[in-house]
Amino acid sequence: MSEKKKRYMLSEDDIPRRWYNIQAEMPVKPMPPLNPATKEPLKAEDLYPIFAEELCRQELNQKDAWIDIPEEVREMYKYYRSTPLVRAYGLEKALGTPAHIYFKNESVSPMGSHKLNSAIPQAYYCREEGVTNVTTETGAGQWGASLAYAARLFGLEAAVYQVKISYEQKPYRRSMMQTFGAQVTPSPSMSTRAGKDILTANPNHQGSLGTAISEAVELARTTPGCKYTLGSVLSHVTLHQTVIGLEAEKQMAMAGEYPDVVIACFGGGSNFGGIAFPFMRHNFTGERHTRFVAAEPASCPKLTRGEFRYDFGDEAGYTPLLPMFTLGHDFMPPNVHAGGLRYHGAGVIVSQLLKDGLMEAVDIEQIESFDAGVLFARAEGIIPAPESCHAIAATVREALECKKTGEEKVILFNLSGHGLIDMASYDKYLAGDLVNYEYKPKKA
Ligand SMILES: *Cc1c(COP(=O)(O)O)cnc(C)c1O
Repeated sequence: MSEKKKRYMLSEDDIPRRWYNIQAEMPVKPMPPLNPATKEPLKAEDLYPIFAEELCRQELNQKDAWIDIPEEVREMYKYYRSTPLVRAYGLEKALGTPAHIYFKNESVSPMGSHKLNSAIPQAYYCREEGVTNVTTETGAGQWGASLAYAARLFGLEAAVYQVKISYEQKPYRRSMMQTFGAQVTPSPSMSTRAGKDILTANPNHQGSLGTAISEAVELARTTPGCKYTLGSVLSHVTLHQTVIGLEAEKQMAMAGEYPDVVIACFGGGSNFGGIAFPFMRHNFTGERHTRFVAAEPASCPKLTRGEFRYDFGDEAGYTPLLPMFTLGHDFMPPNVHAGGLRYHGAGVIVSQLLKDGLMEAVDIEQIESFDAGVLFARAEGIIPAPESCHAIAATVREALECKKTGEEKVILFNLSGHGLIDMASYDKYLAGDLVNYEYKPKKA
């Protein structure tokens, strides 16, 4: 019997030197973000007061398919990249499927998720441009922890608005942010105009990503030397995440395979785009026919049940208008444990791709996601983040379909993070206390 290879790793030399900018090669390019006051298309300069300038240019760059990764950023990537590509023999066996299942393990990053892939370049460009302070919002705390660490690496001060309910329910991510020296404020807070307005209208507001974004954007706008950063949704964030798929492409070649299906969970689209876009470029040329599946929570189903239209990125309506699949910027997602997937809209690139039929979406109930997560943990020894459980559930569905048809499909999914700081949600699952939430559309 020939030896079975389990993990595929790249040498440091093979860590990508460029990010892949899919905007340059999409058959139909995304429509421009609009200034909400004038309804005019936004120019990069319009975003300069909020984000580092280079990030604004990356955001709207529809010309260059490849963007150089600065050497200093690549040096920081080397602390944890490449991440392993793993053949999930244990999961295949547990399912009795003929499918070949692979996963890209982003949970090995020091912060436990893929978010650091973009936090590092965002902090880097801020430092390069003379910025001294960065601010952001965070839900479960994955992004906040990554930004807090990246800010530390580049000598910046970080102020993080954490959704109030998460601040109370996920105390260890708050401790992580504070360990790296970030200032953490539960949102909504009385420290901003937006927070005061929300609390005046509803003193018991538990917070949402929308409220926290409004507060962080306001702080950046009103504080000299301070820029806002975002962990998902925007095109430049997804650009940085393409290191995942670019590595995976080389690693799949080492395994002598190419994916028939690529799957990732979906919050705003950055880990999905990160693993999918480098493979999707071969679909554009007609050379491959891979399927791409985004897995979202059934309780927050913007891709499967949302509407494609211009909408705000935040609750207070401070951001530009973005052409996106959305449930409405005032939609309050139910309190599912996959905090990173509780967002009303999808990034503009993914929205256009879905509209054009170049990718698919499925929705997963909370209990099905944890069923799959626990099955995976027992088969592969890694406890997945509640968000990642959605990708695993979609993978399980595909693999069981292969069992029916006998097809030996190659399935690749992204393990976006581990769940070691989310064990309270596993406790609930194991005690039988988890529930599914019905999606209730907002009445117009
Ligand atoms: C934030 C997060 C997500 C969702 O964000 P995307 O931008 O859609 O990738 C998924 N998984 C983990 C572990 C996260 O922290």
